[in-house]
Amino acid sequence: MNCIFCDIINRKANAEILFENEKVLAFLDVRPVNYGHTLVIPKTHSENFLSVCKEDLLELIRITQMISGAITKSINPDGFNIVTNNGTAAGQSVFHFHFHIIPRFNNDAFSFKPNLKSYSNGTMREFADKIRAKIF
Ligand code: 5GP
Ligand code: ZN
Repeated sequence: MNCIFCDIINRKANAEILFENEKVLAFLDVRPVNYGHTLVIPKTHSENFLSVCKEDLLELIRITQMISGAITKSINPDGFNIVTNNGTAAGQSVFHFHFHIIPRFNNDAFSFKPNLKSYSNGTMREFADKIRAKIF
């Protein structure tokens, strides 16, 4: 299997590594939205948010909070986004699960500009019912 993030974990590819422990690696994104943009990944390969094992996910979230704190203290952004893209339609380009930590600045070049929909009569309940039926 060809995976650039596994190559980074195994030191077969270079990266600016910020932190690692037994389960997790954090490194700078090579094409940052803003400088300091960081990726946090599990060391065990997993494709996405649904398939990553729960233990790894808990540790990823813990480390994502820790690195977000370090970014905030060091770079002093006005805010930050935690993002995970899942599937090509959502913008995922590397199919090894990762959280992005994106430092944000007032009036920076990055923005989510969604075309917001409205629910027509009754459809909100329909969507809620469909989703509730699959929660277990
Ligand atoms: P995705 O599009 O899957 O949510 O995010 C993948 C991210 O990985 C992109 O932001 C991209 O810039 C970053 N990336 C891809 N290849 C490399 C690489 O070889 N090294 C580093 N440091 N980042 C990479
Ligand atoms: Zn991988």
